[in-house]
Amino acid sequence: MSEPEAGANASPCVVASRRSAGASRAADRRPSEEAPPRRGRQGGRGGRRRSPSGPPQSEAAGPGEPPLSFELKSDCVGAVIGRGGSKIRDIQSTTNTKIQITKGYPGAEVKIFGSKAMQSKAKAIIDNLVKKQEIYHSESTDADLASQPPVGKDMRTDEGTMIDWDQIREDALKWEKKKWADLPPIKKNFYTESKTTHSMSQVQIDDWRKENYNIMCDDLKDGEKRPIPNPTCKFEDAFECYPEVMENIKKAGFQKPTPIQSQAWPIVLQGIDLIGVAQTGTGKTLSYLMPGFIHLDSQPIPRDKRNGPGMLVLTPTRELALQVEAECSKYIYKGLKSVCVYGGGDRYGQIQDLTKGVDIIIATPGRLNDLQMNNFVNLKSVTYLVLDEADKMLDMGFEPQIMKILLDVRPDRQTIMTSATWPHAVRRLAQSYLKEPMIVYVGTLDLVAVNTVEQNIIVTTEEEKRSLIQTFLESMSPKDKVIVFVSRKAVADHLSSDLVLRQISVESLHGNREQSDRERALENFKTGKVRILIATDLASRGLDVHDVTHVYNYDFPRNIEEYVHRVGRTGRAGRTGVSITLITRNDWRVASELINILERANQIIPEDLVSMAERFKANKMKREMEKKLGRPEGKPKKFYY
Ligand code: AMP
Repeated sequence: MSEPEAGANASPCVVASRRSAGASRAADRRPSEEAPPRRGRQGGRGGRRRSPSGPPQSEAAGPGEPPLSFELKSDCVGAVIGRGGSKIRDIQSTTNTKIQITKGYPGAEVKIFGSKAMQSKAKAIIDNLVKKQEIYHSESTDADLASQPPVGKDMRTDEGTMIDWDQIREDALKWEKKKWADLPPIKKNFYTESKTTHSMSQVQIDDWRKENYNIMCDDLKDGEKRPIPNPTCKFEDAFECYPEVMENIKKAGFQKPTPIQSQAWPIVLQGIDLIGVAQTGTGKTLSYLMPGFIHLDSQPIPRDKRNGPGMLVLTPTRELALQVEAECSKYIYKGLKSVCVYGGGDRYGQIQDLTKGVDIIIATPGRLNDLQMNNFVNLKSVTYLVLDEADKMLDMGFEPQIMKILLDVRPDRQTIMTSATWPHAVRRLAQSYLKEPMIVYVGTLDLVAVNTVEQNIIVTTEEEKRSLIQTFLESMSPKDKVIVFVSRKAVADHLSSDLVLRQISVESLHGNREQSDRERALENFKTGKVRILIATDLASRGLDVHDVTHVYNYDFPRNIEEYVHRVGRTGRAGRTGVSITLITRNDWRVASELINILERANQIIPEDLVSMAERFKANKMKREMEKKLGRPEGKPKKFYY
């Protein structure tokens, strides 16, 4: 063994826990009765180097509690420590442990100090990180098996005893089994195929899928594939055995299921995990809520005896969480109680709501993780899990919180994941948290084209933008409602004050505003009190305001996915809409991707945009050529403020 790895900085070999005493007591109240895995080594707190401040101490460690030691592959150390020690600090603070990683060959040695239960929890988090790292390696490169430490290899400890890795693994598995042993069985299949659905021919099914935004489905189970259920083209085909659900749908006045609903319902009602790739506005929320209601109400253990919520919906933003909650309350089924838990909201009030007893939690990952770690919510009772807008959650960096939340959710749950895009990171998430899922996507796999919106592109300059938007706003009819998207909070503020000075009534929505102001702004816009909303990308997804007639992209978004989401704020639920997008030379790298989107949606492509894409391509080739020839690239750099 050689140098100890530092978590946060270079010197200490033990990263100090920053958890408060109160929090550590709370953490200790977590299921500490559960037996921890037996360790293969005995003895005290290891005999290697200590941090300058002496041996690691943890408030959670009982007197003389030996550390949990295990080996970590060298190429996984970075993933566990995280950038600047962020991950390891996070694990330590959420589990109230101290973790020491000492580099060695062939792997590093990890020691976890803390109470037995918390040691096991920290180990489970590390195992998860390692698993993900392994999936990543096996996908991105040919795995170099030779460099992996041999499975089951025994190593000597400093005290000379052998570490029995096989035993540790076996114990960890046993412990994991024990953790979930006492839980009641889950019932998952509630589907009875209607006669009409059953009798559809393959040609009818194919035609129907094609006509409904080219729905595509696949079974992602390894080995022999299961048949993909026929779509339920009418509401009765999915819910004829559930009259209360049918009543709610009738009350809402919906004509027929949306494409994602028709294909998702027969899959989810059968208890199969589902990945739904569809943009917002397609009815994806009800595609998981309706089967979820039935699932909750039909479990073998009655609701009042479950000691916690049965459904958990994780969403990336408070706005989406509130919107899902609104949908949930609108179609509420058999008195199921739902609670919305999100950062920036009244924490005390949310805790009060949770303690009163709930069936459904709709939450943003950060706040839920906080309440979970402080024992205000029991997630063991969750049998139906939804990861809504998974791509956005990953974009926003919520993966560690999701990982920690899911450690407390039983592994045999049913899981639904929705995403507007299907990039590598989302696939990896699906691989980690869904079991043998089916996938349903509406439109193309990479990006869903927006067909119900007339998309206008104006190639312009930064200087001309102000006068362009003024002309547009002045030409609005009283029935028009527009969301103006800008890139930064400061631009949103400048633009709104500018318009207010011109006696134009606007609301603005961005992350620097108080939650109550954001909710009020949105309410005013929804009710039509104000017909212009200036927003950053906070509003590009999930916001469901039916009657938005126009989307105005004052600044082009940071990527093409965000463009699709923004444009999708109009033309919702069967309506048509118009988008106007200003694009300047600063955005020229996205020009060709934008052309692809416009082509797919049969939109007019301005000549200026085509030449912008060509100029960018030519410039790129020139730079690459210059690089190859070793010449200085282009002109000397100019700096702009
Ligand atoms: P979502 O994609 O879940 O954000 O849904 C967008 C909007 O479509 C929501 O306001 C839903 O109430 C509405 N909606 C859901 N299902 C249907 C349907 N079958 N027909 C018409 N509107 C629907």
